[in-house]
Amino acid sequence: MSIARKLCCNHLLELEPYQSARRLGGSGEVWLNANELPFSFGDYAIDSSSYQRYPEVPSSSLLGAYADYTSFSADQLLSVRGADEGIELIIRAFCTPSVDRIVITPPTYGMYQVSANIHGVGIKEIPRSASFDLDVDALKAVDDAKLIFICSPNNPTGNLSSEQELRDILDTFRDSALVVVDEAYIEFCPEQTLLPLINEYPNLVIVRTLSKAFGLAAVRCGFVAAAKDVIELLSKIIAPYPVPAPVEQIAMQALSAQGLARMRQRVEEINRIRASFVERIVGMQGIVKVTASFGNFVLVEFSDEPKAVQLLASEGVVVRTPYTQGLIHNSQRISIGSAEQMDRVVVALGGLGR
Ligand SMILES: *Cc1c(COP(=O)(O)O)cnc(C)c1O
Repeated sequence: MSIARKLCCNHLLELEPYQSARRLGGSGEVWLNANELPFSFGDYAIDSSSYQRYPEVPSSSLLGAYADYTSFSADQLLSVRGADEGIELIIRAFCTPSVDRIVITPPTYGMYQVSANIHGVGIKEIPRSASFDLDVDALKAVDDAKLIFICSPNNPTGNLSSEQELRDILDTFRDSALVVVDEAYIEFCPEQTLLPLINEYPNLVIVRTLSKAFGLAAVRCGFVAAAKDVIELLSKIIAPYPVPAPVEQIAMQALSAQGLARMRQRVEEINRIRASFVERIVGMQGIVKVTASFGNFVLVEFSDEPKAVQLLASEGVVVRTPYTQGLIHNSQRISIGSAEQMDRVVVALGGLGR
């Protein structure tokens, strides 16, 4: 046995790393597998004049920009390297390995489980219904979890959880668990954000990212919003200089009035393309169900999913490797690309009827 395998934390030997769409890859020129924007904003200015100095921590200008964007105060916000770092910090700060558990609601985003596995933290699954709604009663009956992860709009299904449902869950766990709401796609339906509830619920934590609607997946930036004492705890365990200066400079430009206007314009465009795409594929032969989506992707159930993937591949369209989870094993999550790219998807799926 190698020294690495002999010495490493035992639970890591069997660990399945996160299978990101990018890691899984695929061949073809139209990438609709990772919920990325199809266009680049591409004109950020970088000022390298003080890169020999460590950056200010936390960066008051970046926190100020997040504060302006969210109408929160800087002490309710933590700037992180993407939502994934936020998720990991929350698990590390609140869960003792081999003792505590988190709740997830599959089918949902895979990183909650992977992060918990990495840190030796247990998982309790409360599956969603056939229409992908939360099983609120089952969630409320959980009595041994520290964290409850809820993604809304949910990746990969695209549906939202209602404010009423989430209030019900937040009330139930007011003194016993944190409810982490992952709003990675909330810019595509901004009026649905739960941010204002943070002042009402000390157990609400919201995770956000600039990877999706802002089109900055490669830059790695996002933030966590929560009560001040939650943020203080997370700040204790984050890396000493978490956000690189070039990342901060780019994020500041994305959050400027001009950057926000540009983001909102792109969101409108993507939402328009999504609506027209859904309209065109609903009722097509071989398509069983298209779940109404609030994000920049749609979950489509096929009668023959492998054939759909093959047809898409023949048009150069890359989608994810198939899901294995029961509820969605015949489905594909298709990211919304440009109008031309979605035309190619429609043409490819036309082959299902032949
Ligand atoms: C993409 C995604 C993330 C990860 O965002 P990063 O900021 O790129 O780390 C987190 N949560 C959900 C639901 C996502 O889809």
